[in-house]
Amino acid sequence: MTSSGSNEGALVWNVAGLLGEEPGADRLLDVADVRIGLGDDLTLAAPIAGRVRLVHTNRGILAGADLRTALQLACSRCLRDIVLPVDVRLQEEYLPALDLATGRPLPTDDEPEVARLTDHHELDLETPVREAIQLSEPIAPLCRPDCPGLCIVCGERLDEGVHDHPDDDIDPRLEALRGFHADDA
Ligand SMILES: [Zn+2]
Ligand SMILES: [Zn+2]
Repeated sequence: MTSSGSNEGALVWNVAGLLGEEPGADRLLDVADVRIGLGDDLTLAAPIAGRVRLVHTNRGILAGADLRTALQLACSRCLRDIVLPVDVRLQEEYLPALDLATGRPLPTDDEPEVARLTDHHELDLETPVREAIQLSEPIAPLCRPDCPGLCIVCGERLDEGVHDHPDDDIDPRLEALRGFHADDA
């Protein structure tokens, strides 16, 4: 496992050996310093770390993940940078795509929705982990629950500096907005 940068395949494990063991056999895997691309302008603020347990079941491999990372976000009111801790807990059973002994493809028609191991007996946890992280992105992230946001007059953060603006300082383009705001309150 590489120590930095994007490490492709770090959440993919070959489970052929585990499939050859008795049901109930398991593997405990440490996950450390893993970075994956998230797309959608979403950025990790910390590498993914934690534990994954793979258990050989009667049907395939049960993967349980207990991972932590963090998202780099901006406050939806004041635009401050936020680091949002994210816990990723997954439990998913993967069924083989091929018969381990014969190498023949197994029928998948009866359970099209179920997760599958690859043709190389690999369990790919990267996609479900990516989806779980993407789903944890809040619609309107806040730097703190009572963030007052930006001053409607000067555009500075309301919790920084002084905002008792004299009337003649007001940008006429913002005057209407300010009046609307006062009426609204
Ligand atoms: Zn804020
Ligand atoms: Zn202001």
